[in-house]
Amino acid sequence: MTDRSGPYGGDEFATFHHLESEVRSYARRAPAVFTTARGAQLFARDGTVYLDFLMGCSSLNYGHNPPELKSALAEYIARDGITHSLDLYSEAKESFLRELDETIFRPRQLDYVVQFSGPTGANAVEAALKLARKITGRSNIIAFTNGFHGVSLGALSCTGNRYHRAAAGQLLGGVTRLPYDGYLGSSVDTADYLDHLLSDPSSGVDAPAAVIVETVQGEGGLNVAGPEWLQKLAAVARRHGALLIVDEIQAGVGRTDAFFSFEASGLRPDIVTMAKSISGYGLPMAVVLIDRLLDVWQPGEHTGTFRGNCHAFVTARAALEHFWRTDSLAASVREKGNLVKSRLDRIAQKYDPDRVSAKGRGMMRGIDLKSGEVAGQVVSTAFQNGLILEAAGPKDEVVKCLPPLVIAEDQLSQGLDILEDAIDSVIGSTGHMAA
Ligand SMILES: *Cc1c(COP(=O)(O)O)cnc(C)c1O
Repeated sequence: MTDRSGPYGGDEFATFHHLESEVRSYARRAPAVFTTARGAQLFARDGTVYLDFLMGCSSLNYGHNPPELKSALAEYIARDGITHSLDLYSEAKESFLRELDETIFRPRQLDYVVQFSGPTGANAVEAALKLARKITGRSNIIAFTNGFHGVSLGALSCTGNRYHRAAAGQLLGGVTRLPYDGYLGSSVDTADYLDHLLSDPSSGVDAPAAVIVETVQGEGGLNVAGPEWLQKLAAVARRHGALLIVDEIQAGVGRTDAFFSFEASGLRPDIVTMAKSISGYGLPMAVVLIDRLLDVWQPGEHTGTFRGNCHAFVTARAALEHFWRTDSLAASVREKGNLVKSRLDRIAQKYDPDRVSAKGRGMMRGIDLKSGEVAGQVVSTAFQNGLILEAAGPKDEVVKCLPPLVIAEDQLSQGLDILEDAIDSVIGSTGHMAA
């Protein structure tokens, strides 16, 4: 084999180890140099083929380089379609907006205007928080245990994870943390608790501008909020003059089957944040959907140089056209989600429920191994056997399966087989950790 290390000595990762900051994270548990990707597969430089159940943390819901989107993008680039447009009117943006209105908004009777924020989820969250504070004239925000909303300071204030919060190096304020659905067990309704706090002028909780919530907590460990709880939360927010922000950045775009993860509970959020899979191709793009009556922004109040990524608009439009004009993708996500559920339940049933349990919703599911160390070993073992996935949750104890929504069933089974073998080899069939 030729020497891959280049000028820095050491192994084939020497360039990264020498020149890239220690802040890198996912790469540490997936030691390979990747070159190409197609569908559910990633190809490494050494010839190894991996199944990808990480999928850019649900940024690639249609798989890597989906052909329908790739051809639309290639054609657009070939005719010198504008790439960067700030927020000038571009035909690419116009086409995306129309497709979004016709394919998504109108059939659901949603009357949103679209804010193109900076192209990350965190920036969409920043914009949503600012807007809610501007509308209400209040500053407090209600966010939930294990919520993840990004790592810029405003978004980080809403994020629960202590490791990420500590990296801020400063106090994170303006947020009251409430227990998420089920956090205190099934007998405590934490939406009632919020109602209590907000009704009591002496509770110490300031009247909130907004409640920000994920319907399924992606980074927080696949905790699922029940539809009744979400409905009650929406009602409590409304009763107390707070806006409802649903963070759809990970759970949206079909991950739980419907386009929006909140559709199943019949919510009508005031503000919705979207990023990750909205462009459908892994291109940076984020949007904030704002109830038309709440759009009190003044020109340029929230700005950003990369709000006009036309390549992302082209693939986002193509994704809506190819995957969302009919219900067939949502139906197939429901089916495959059930398949994943039954497989994960079967894995969990082999073990003591205190050690292994299945979690999640739709095609956003995983296995709670109750220990970050065990989950880490499972992730590493799976990688050695050709499956890329990651762990989430407060202690990184939940191994997450985020295969492409369009994955073929044989590949889906193959990935789940690798996961099951990894769990079996790490824990052993007795429910005790293997020596
Ligand atoms: C990933 C994520 C974010 C942050 O998005 P970035 O693009 O990483 O800034 C916010 N909210 C949720 C629910 C996410 O999963």
